Amino acid sequence: MGYIEPAPIKDKANPFESMMSRFNIAAEALGLDEQVYNVLKSPTKQVSVTLPITMDDGSIRVFEGHRVIHSNILGPSKGGVRYAMDVHIDEVKALAAWMTWKCAVVDIPYGGAKGGIKCNPREMSAGEIERLTRAYTNAMLDVFGPDRDIPAPDMGTGPREMAWMMDEFSRAHGMTVNAMVTGKPLVLGGSLGRTEATGRGVMVSALAAMEKLNINPYHATVAVQGFGNVGSHAALLLEERGASVIAISDISGAYYNEKGINIKAAVAYRDSNNGTLEGFKGAELMDDASDLLVLKVDVLVPAAVEDVIHSGNVDRVQAKLIVEGANGPTSAQADKIINEKGIMVAPDILANAGGVTVSYFEWVQNRLGYKWTRERVNRRSDRIMKDAFDKVYETSLKYNVPMRIAAYIVAIDKVASTYKYRGGF
Ligand code: GLU
Repeated sequence: MGYIEPAPIKDKANPFESMMSRFNIAAEALGLDEQVYNVLKSPTKQVSVTLPITMDDGSIRVFEGHRVIHSNILGPSKGGVRYAMDVHIDEVKALAAWMTWKCAVVDIPYGGAKGGIKCNPREMSAGEIERLTRAYTNAMLDVFGPDRDIPAPDMGTGPREMAWMMDEFSRAHGMTVNAMVTGKPLVLGGSLGRTEATGRGVMVSALAAMEKLNINPYHATVAVQGFGNVGSHAALLLEERGASVIAISDISGAYYNEKGINIKAAVAYRDSNNGTLEGFKGAELMDDASDLLVLKVDVLVPAAVEDVIHSGNVDRVQAKLIVEGANGPTSAQADKIINEKGIMVAPDILANAGGVTVSYFEWVQNRLGYKWTRERVNRRSDRIMKDAFDKVYETSLKYNVPMRIAAYIVAIDKVASTYKYRGGF
């Protein structure tokens, strides 16, 4: 069975506008100065490049790549590079702005950026992806840099691509510059704990929210949409903390087991099965994968793509808590119903910030020339995530707004006050 897009109705508005609609609500609640509002509403820099690549059969194919720097007020800009067919400049702009807010929420000294190449890495050979990655890095030599703009993995990219970026950049500079990119393989200066960092942050946010809602993790049921790096680690770590993960999904479909899925077995199966859960026997294949989102569970973790909870299915969502592992999994239109239903949301810019937090630790270690232990990385990132959660929670009480708007308030306030000190031209 193929994956059924969970979308009878899609709120596929322009993703930048959807980000802005939340930004506007928070800016108003905060009483943001109009001049600062005008600075923050548009990205600082947008670079689009055309990348002609020689394919394995000798033909030349032209790819389009982007890098958007939304803000570098808090420090060098930070954010992943996505390889996917639906990469579009408006989406990259929205994702770049989300990175600004994300870094500000967890209080790390970075601005926000995002990159993307419109391509289908599943249909390309390793050699083709390497040439494309090197061409992209080359085209961005003036953009990237450890004190300027620091890329990282995102959908469709991982440590392998980061290694090529680091190598290409280092060659151009005649020296090893490992701090220009994070999410690298360990031997190239990657950080212990980086791979599971986003999923770990999702787990920490979920536990902090469960405490507020009086949900005992040992009695909690969880559904996780997406079984990539974020979803599978979140599922593993929540299972480890006593929760029962009763549904998981990936592009092959959704799998349900009311007694709880053995997540370790699911991960082992996926890894031995070309990266998909297709044919996984530890749970039942659901007729409609999109029904995972409307299961009666305590915690729902959307950890796949944007806009999966939208005005067409939000009425049927039964979870008490949504912890957003993905960037933008809830459409702006769905927010209102979620709030009316009293569902707590640990929003993306808070819940999935564990990845960029450990990216920051990787960059710090590269610059120190010193490697931290896994325990140190985990301890420090757990503390940052927990402190950020508490701050957002307190802000939501103070302003009487939902957690998402509270997270934007915390972030915008930090960026705006930094901007005021730094000043403009
Ligand atoms: N792509 C990840 C995100 O959306 C990580 C970014 C980073 O580590 O710089 O948060």
